[in-house]
Amino acid sequence: MHILITNDDGIGAPGLKALVGALLEHGRDLELSVVAPEGEQSGAAHAVTVRRPVLVAPVDWPGVTVAYAVDGTPVDCVKLSEALLAEKPDLILSGINRGVNLGTDVLYSGTVGAAIEGALLGCRAIALSVANGPAGPRFATAAACALELIDRLRAERDAPQAGRGVPADLLLNVNVPDRPAEQLAGWRVTRLGVRRYREAYHRREDPRGRQYFWIAGTPDDIDRDPRTDAQALAQGYVSLTPLQFDLTRYSALESLADWERRGRP
Ligand code: MN
Repeated sequence: MHILITNDDGIGAPGLKALVGALLEHGRDLELSVVAPEGEQSGAAHAVTVRRPVLVAPVDWPGVTVAYAVDGTPVDCVKLSEALLAEKPDLILSGINRGVNLGTDVLYSGTVGAAIEGALLGCRAIALSVANGPAGPRFATAAACALELIDRLRAERDAPQAGRGVPADLLLNVNVPDRPAEQLAGWRVTRLGVRRYREAYHRREDPRGRQYFWIAGTPDDIDRDPRTDAQALAQGYVSLTPLQFDLTRYSALESLADWERRGRP
């Protein structure tokens, strides 16, 4: 299985290194390629670089087939992989992100943006994030989850489940709680909840008296449904949310059908 690994924290990020290290050490029959942003791109969502050239630098990374640092966004990395890799990968893994990507926050996430781009290109793709606890993110727990997911995908490939197979463009948003792997409560298949932020900006003043703002804030998961990603995480479960990129609001198609008639109502 050929896996393309990318992220939004940058190619030097400890989460990316932990993921590649764990897959090299414990993965069976894996071929790994890394195409990741040169610097941090958190919050880049689905941005693509269009107004300047994108520089690509090969990186020496023992054990991986190819590794490149890209002077662009996470989505640039996945799009560029078509030009940089000899073949289409079987799976795109984006992460391990430092901090969770829950609920409506997936709309801002570069980690999730890269995974969505992978699915757009027809690959199975997983965005993998881990809670940033008081002692820092437990990348080892998240890497163990990645290995389990890869085994599951491989089992599905070798013995497809008739009638309920995994979609060819499976897109999963995975969040891992702040626990050692052996203390995880289990896995939950969830839906996205709704996150709001309290005190979202800090207002400051610079030495010249100009005001400026820093994004900050405390997340508030206002959706208390136990089937949401945030509630699963709060109970110690790994959350798996299947995503799709078709944003069409199908329920409104019929009510707007009349608007196709020209002229005033
Ligand atoms: Mn990030």
